[in-house]
Parts: sequence; structure tokens; C-alpha cells
Amino acid sequence: MAKALIIGAGGVASVTVHKCVQNSEVFEEICIASRTKAKCDALKEKLDGQGCKISTAQVDANNVDELIALIEAFNPDIVINLALPYQDLTIMDACLATKTHYLDTANYEPEDTAKFEYKWQWEYREKFEKAGITAILGSGFDPGVTGVFSAYAQKHYFDEIHQIDILDCNAGDHGYPFATNFNPEINIREVSAKGSYWEDGHWVETEPMEIKKVYDFPQVGPRDMYLLHHEEIESLALNIKGIQRIRFFMTFGQSYLTHLKCLENVGMTSIEPIMFEGKEIIPLQFLKAVLPDPASLGPRTKGKTNIGCIYQGVKDGKPVNYYVYNVCDHEACYKEVGSQAVSYTTGVPAMIGAMLVVNGTWNKPGVHNVEELDPDAFMEALNQWGLPWVEDFNPTLVED
Ligand code: NDP
Repeated sequence: MAKALIIGAGGVASVTVHKCVQNSEVFEEICIASRTKAKCDALKEKLDGQGCKISTAQVDANNVDELIALIEAFNPDIVINLALPYQDLTIMDACLATKTHYLDTANYEPEDTAKFEYKWQWEYREKFEKAGITAILGSGFDPGVTGVFSAYAQKHYFDEIHQIDILDCNAGDHGYPFATNFNPEINIREVSAKGSYWEDGHWVETEPMEIKKVYDFPQVGPRDMYLLHHEEIESLALNIKGIQRIRFFMTFGQSYLTHLKCLENVGMTSIEPIMFEGKEIIPLQFLKAVLPDPASLGPRTKGKTNIGCIYQGVKDGKPVNYYVYNVCDHEACYKEVGSQAVSYTTGVPAMIGAMLVVNGTWNKPGVHNVEELDPDAFMEALNQWGLPWVEDFNPTLVED
């Protein structure tokens, strides 16, 4: 029986809270803490009495002292960080000060530079190890399940994995001409950045959206997908032996891309502060304020997501191709937890990762990306907690 402090009360946190409540055998008590306490209270009101005991709190996760005070008051076994990537380091500092396990779903990114890398969080490895506490980095879907899939492929089907293609398809339709499925600021920073992939020991950089492929996704159909930089490439390049190439592709519809181009062209996606009516504003943050809240897309989104990885490598001297993926239905997710599939596919793995830390399976002092830990219990839990996976040993490959 464990206590979890969940920081953030947005789309992803809402799913994790629902799943912790469903899993009250493990999570006896949770505290939902965020910048806007009303959102925490709304979740509590919806779920109170259905499983674990729920409390709420207001916290500014940029403030280490406030975080420490909250952790000391609630005394959780683990902090599940579902705020924004900007808060990763302050929350890790508070976990260190209070000797509390830590888990997140996105790597640290300084607010003023759209550059996400693991280097800042990997610098905490020794400190966490010495403190005897575990930090799990990137336990969402991608990163997260994609790393667990990779560890599972490595453990069970390959002597060496040479190529990984991570394919993230969202075929959901929310009916808006333009909206993002998770935090708009983080999403737009990600897709308007240069693309990159890992090949032969180094990064190859591309222009944003330069490489386009079409892939026929199981249970979804053919979709345009574009090569993006994505954070798990960095850790998988380090942790998968014999790896030669890792690419990440995400699907985008034409309407999304046309709107994004236009917003970029007029300067609305910029993170450079500008003066507006005597006040400094960041155009991208203003844009976020006028776009639909991702949490509001749930009731309107129809269709499926398909996220998975295709591996090519060798086993016993013979070539092996292996595709493992999950298909998630937006409407089914909404029916179950009141959120669309993008939040669902992130919030469920966050609960599973936290469960494995608190039940001891993943309790390994230090700072770890998910593929560094044994994948079997996680894979089993995915089937149990709503993200079943499908294996294909003869997949269509992404063309070169
Ligand atoms: P939302 O914007 O919906 O939610 C973020 C929450 O964090 C909000 O409740 C927000 O509060 C809160 N927050 C922001 N700043 C602070 C702060 N300083 N102090 C306390 N709380 C704060 O985002 P999502 O739920 O869509 O995403 C959550 C995380 O999940 C992000 O880091 C995102 O990158 C990651 N993610 C990971 C994926 C994966 O597969 N690995 C996929 C999708 C998302 P307020 O309500 O006041 O704004």
C-alpha cells in the first residue's frame, strides 16, 4: 500500500488519477497538487469514495521550498510529475531533499530554449543513487512504452537490434480545424523544431517536417507521417546494444500542418518575448490561451491512435523483424476516464511505472530511463490496465 503525490492536474494527470483510483490495492492514498487547485478539487469531487483516499493542494512546482513543504506534509512514497517539462529539475531537487522516489513523462526543457535533452536530468544519477531513491524518466507512451517495448524486444527476440522506427499515429478527429492533443505550447515547440535521427553513432539533423513517409497502420489505414526529433532516441541510442539507426515518425493531417505553417509565418509560435500593450508576452503562450484546451477535446474526438516500434536486427545469426504496437480508441478512453487517447496512452504508463517503483519491482536507486529496467512486469501491466499490445513478426517496413 502506497501514497503518491501527483503534480499537475491537466489531461495526463487526470488519467493517472483515474488509474490510481482503479488501482487502490497499490495506491492507498493520493494527493493531487497543481498550480490551479480548483482543477485538483474537480478531480477529487469526481472520484472521491471510488477507491483510494484523495486530498488536494496548491503548489508552484517551480518553487523547491514549496515542493519540499508539501512532500514533508503529505509524506508520499513517490512523486509523479505530470506538470510541464520545465518543472522536472525543481521537482527532482525536492525529491532529493526529502528522499522520495520520482517519476515523470517528459524530459527537462529550459523554458527559454526549445531544446530537450536528458543531460540535465542524467546529472542527478549519482545524487539519487547516493540518496537511495529511484527516479524513472519518461514513463508515458513515447517516451515510456516505446522504451519498454525496446527492452522487451532486446530481452526476448534479438541478440542485436540494428534499427528502430518509432511510429506514432493519431488518427483521431476532434472536428476543430486546429487544436493540439496535449499541452499546445509543448506540442508546438516539439513539431516546429528541427527533426533529427540517430545513425551510425551520431545525430543527423533535418529541417522541420522535411522527411515525409506514408505508412499503412494496422486498424487505422494509410497516413502521412513526418520524421521528428524525439527524446527517447537519445536514451535508446545509449541503452540498446548494436544499434545503428533510430528514427521517430508522427502522423499529421494536412489541416494541422497548414495552420501551423501560417501561425509560424505570422510569428505566433515564437518563444521570444514581445511587448504588447505595455506588458511582455510570449507569442506561443498567448496562442496556447486562445486554442482549445486539450482536456476539452475528449468528448469530441473519434478514431484511434496506433503507437508502436518496428525493430530490425539479428537473433542466432538470422535476421529478425518485429513490430509491437498498441491501438487505442479515443471514444472508449473517454467513456472510461473522461479523456481522449493521447492523455490516456500517457497517463496509464505513468501509473504503471509508479506502481512498479512502489511495489519494489523497479526500485533501483539512481536515475533511469525505462528501457534500463526489466520490461516484463510493465508489459503485463499494459495488458491489464487498458493498453494491450499486438506483435507482428512480418511487418511492412518503413521505406528508407
Ligand atoms: P496540461 O497542460 O494539460 O497539464 C499540465 C498541468 O501542470 C496543469 O494542471 C498545470 O496547471 C500544471 N502546471 C504547470 N505549471 C505548473 C507549476 N509551475 N506548478 C504546478 N503545476 C503546474 O499538460 P498535459 O497533461 O497534456 O501534459 C503533462 C505532461 O505530460 C507534459 O510534461 C507533457 O510533455 C507530457 N506528455 C508526455 C507524453 C508521453 O507520451 N511521454 C505525451 C503527452 C504529454 P494549470 O492548470 O494551472 O495550467
